[in-house]
Amino acid sequence: MSAAFEKVYDSYWYILGKSVTDFEAEYATFSQTRFCVGVSNGLDALYLSLRALGVGEGDEVIVPSNGYIATWLAVTFAGATPVPVEPDVETYNINPALIAGVVTSRTKAIIPIHLYGQAGDMTSILSIAEAHGLHVIEDNAQSHGASFKGRITGSWGIVNATSFYPGKNLGALGDAGAITTNDEQIAHKIGVLRNYGSAKKYYNDVLGHNMRLDELQGALLSVKLKHLSNWTAQRKELAGWYRDALQGVPGLVLPHVHPDAEHVYHLFVVRHLRRDELQSHLTEKGIGTMIHYPVTPHLQEAYRELGYAKGDFPIAEQLAATSLSIPLWPGMTREMVEWISSEIREFCER
Ligand SMILES: *Cc1c(COP(=O)(O)O)cnc(C)c1O
Repeated sequence: MSAAFEKVYDSYWYILGKSVTDFEAEYATFSQTRFCVGVSNGLDALYLSLRALGVGEGDEVIVPSNGYIATWLAVTFAGATPVPVEPDVETYNINPALIAGVVTSRTKAIIPIHLYGQAGDMTSILSIAEAHGLHVIEDNAQSHGASFKGRITGSWGIVNATSFYPGKNLGALGDAGAITTNDEQIAHKIGVLRNYGSAKKYYNDVLGHNMRLDELQGALLSVKLKHLSNWTAQRKELAGWYRDALQGVPGLVLPHVHPDAEHVYHLFVVRHLRRDELQSHLTEKGIGTMIHYPVTPHLQEAYRELGYAKGDFPIAEQLAATSLSIPLWPGMTREMVEWISSEIREFCER
């Protein structure tokens, strides 16, 4: 990592140079897509994807009713309206069977999230999208390297967005993101939109933004990308140990993996009806946990204007009330997994 830092430092070229171009080529290869465009973060990657597709004022975009608010915000910032669809209660990913029911003449796109690292049912989503003439944009922020029916996430949609926020499976040392696509025109448009709307310096063809990936993050990501498959293997092994140790614990729901999906365990999320008490118990024992996410987007103050109320998306609300992310990161030992699991078991059997 320090060699990569020094190389960028000594180059005296910090924005849109060789390190970003090299990382883009490497991440496109990894994603099995023709193009990758590095951008400032995951939210901007989603937003630029929508803009490149011409989604804007008066349009509707289907999003999951659960998950992170960034997916909704990108739609709002593009000028369109997010239309939520409930998740499958077992996989927590958007339920393809409910999508057709919310499609209107204004619907332009679907943005599925591969939540917590598990690939969504992309074959069903793509066939629904095709039947209704909709674009698919994958939100691949949590699932670098996952796959559905053997095909990697980030390669299914017309354009796909990801984040390299430090906590993601592939994380930068600051904000960073990218889009992946097989469409040359879309890649070009996003390349222009991220850089003030300019393909040629100081000639601006469209109203663009400053949403660039910087050279230093690009160089660091190239180094880390080489370790990703090793880290993913460790995440899966840790998840397996948790499953062994937590099997049959009363009242505890473990992650369910769809038979055609690969799960890369960005997070290991369990559910319990007394989630808050379980979290306090673990905190007392010195075990840090997180809640992803305590409030669904439709009940956030920021989205009050959409007019939703409690009870509108009961599955998402139930997940928000019961989910708990327990520690899982490459480098954890089997002893740690067993200790955490025994503390969880003790609470649940009490
Ligand atoms: C992290 C995340 C984002 C946003 O990424 P940033 O780089 O923080 O902007 C978007 N969608 C999902 C599902 C995420 O987990």
